[in-house]
Amino acid sequence: MEREELKRYRRQLLHPGFTESHQKKLKSSVVLLAGVGGLGGAVAYGLTAAGVGNIIVVHSGNLTESNLNRQTLMGESALGLSRAKTAAGRIAEFNRFVNVEAHDLAANEKTLEPLAKRADLIIDARHNFPERRALNKVAVEKKVPLLYAAMDAMSAQTALFVPETTGCFECLYPESPPDWDPFGFPVFGAVAHTIGALTALEAIKYLSGFGEVSRSLNVMDFNRYDLRKFRLHRRPDCPVCGQKE
Ligand SMILES: [Zn+2]
Repeated sequence: MEREELKRYRRQLLHPGFTESHQKKLKSSVVLLAGVGGLGGAVAYGLTAAGVGNIIVVHSGNLTESNLNRQTLMGESALGLSRAKTAAGRIAEFNRFVNVEAHDLAANEKTLEPLAKRADLIIDARHNFPERRALNKVAVEKKVPLLYAAMDAMSAQTALFVPETTGCFECLYPESPPDWDPFGFPVFGAVAHTIGALTALEAIKYLSGFGEVSRSLNVMDFNRYDLRKFRLHRRPDCPVCGQKE
């Protein structure tokens, strides 16, 4: 890495144990980030600031005014514009050492497959179960770890699913809640950003090899400032990651 680039990361290189070699690993990493809403936008900021070198953004649709209570990656000047493309523009402007590509697409198996096979890590910052299941399926098939982040009102969860090691998203949630409305759940931007920042930090640790990555299902309740950790179980009969005949 050039001296000029390393200078940018001087303050994170002060962490005892975080070396130039960790920084190089971040630079060479490829992250597929599905979702750049309030949560995913905060993930994008964390990754970009830290120097994760290659970010593939997948998000369909354009920015609306009602997104702005949680969206800090883009503002009023982007109303009506593609969220994926605006996010990519902001990432590129923020850190010239980061390569970013934008895909204004819904996340499904067909759209994700060619992108996932290039990724070292997939981050699930979507808000609906069909896209989460597609991300999980592709991650298991391509053997790419999936970092899952979700929120609903004042509660949130994160987990890292590692193919052939931990269970997968399907093991954890074999059924979707019947009444789940992907556009109807309450969101404070501050909750989305908190989870986004925690997710970015887990990604940075996983990709660089620095620190200890959480292997739990982490469940947070922000009403009470409470964090609980649960063991992730692998279901042998899971239709996605279970033993195949
Ligand atoms: Zn599974």
